[in-house]
Amino acid sequence: MLRPVLLALASSRWLKSMMVRFPLARRVARRFVAGEGLEDALNAVRSLRAEDLMVTLDFLGENADTLEGAEESATQYLEVVQAIASAGLDSHISLKLTALGLDHGQEVCGAHLERILTAASRHNIFVRIDMEGSDYTEATMQIFEKVRSRHENVGVVLQSYLHRTRADVARANDIQGRVRLCKGAYHESPLIAYQDRSKVSENFVTLMKDLLSHGTYPAIATHDEQMIKATIQYAREHNIDPASFEFQMLYGIRRERQIQLRREGYNVRVYVPFGSQWYPYFMRRLAERPANLVFFLTALFKG
Ligand SMILES: Cc1cc2nc3c(=O)[nH]c(=O)nc-3n(C[C@H](O)[C@H](O)[C@H](O)COP(=O)(O)OP(=O)(O)OC[C@H]3O[C@@H](n4cnc5c(N)ncnc54)[C@H](O)[C@@H]3O)c2cc1C
Repeated sequence: MLRPVLLALASSRWLKSMMVRFPLARRVARRFVAGEGLEDALNAVRSLRAEDLMVTLDFLGENADTLEGAEESATQYLEVVQAIASAGLDSHISLKLTALGLDHGQEVCGAHLERILTAASRHNIFVRIDMEGSDYTEATMQIFEKVRSRHENVGVVLQSYLHRTRADVARANDIQGRVRLCKGAYHESPLIAYQDRSKVSENFVTLMKDLLSHGTYPAIATHDEQMIKATIQYAREHNIDPASFEFQMLYGIRRERQIQLRREGYNVRVYVPFGSQWYPYFMRRLAERPANLVFFLTALFKG
């Protein structure tokens, strides 16, 4: 009930402009966001690496409304690539195609992505294309397929709540495309997406098995203990080397479990968002878990 409301509020410009100016809200958001500046992000990478956790950095941008906006986002991602390399850090980056101008067509967006991939490959940095709402799924897959034919250092995200994802996993596997599997964070219609959580999880397990058996170094991105256990069990039963896949979790969520999985010998990567445009990301995290909303409201009232 609450989830669609919070997801709708994630795109409210009014609430966003209120929240980002409100110091207390910014402080609470820090639970899920490493900070607003690049140096905050690099510090987060350093402390996670010290715990033997791997990292992917997500610069939180907005849908580029203009071509100039897309150009600006591309420049910012290039700066992130350069900063990781200059600091001698080991980190992936995650990006959103709408920030690179997907709303202005695949050509504009594809050209920016090409530039970023070329720069990233010079420094051995892997680039993950996050998956957004279903209006963008097919275009994202098409762009991924195109750039994958020229670049090794690129992967995509697929969402188990969408009916189409089984076919998309097959498409990715066909081109040895690296997939991050997640449940999906947007509000989607019952015509195209499972609404029932148990169906989303059931499909997640089916897709996880397909990726572990036939995929290329898949990333299993979840905090759900049942999904984690199903992955470990499937890998054990099928003699799948733990080095051939990784778990991924979000910054600030289930930290102890991240460390414990690493100690058990699994590769674990933490998704670290940073930047001033943290509002929609933060709202999606609130929508995932009512307890987070309670945490947020309590912190606000405590002031
Ligand atoms: C590394 C990573 C990258 C992602 N990239 C994308 C993407 O590109 N596109 C996309 O649509 N979605 C993305 N997501 C989000 C994903 O789709 C889900 O919305 C999110 O991970 C919650 O699903 P879950 O599998 O953790 O299970 P859920 O069923 O939501 O949660 C299971 C349990 O995990 C814990 N938990 C889950 N979420 C939270 C939280 N916010 N705070 C505290 N505890 C929590 C709780 O104990 C909960 O009971 C990503 C997730 C991860 C981990």
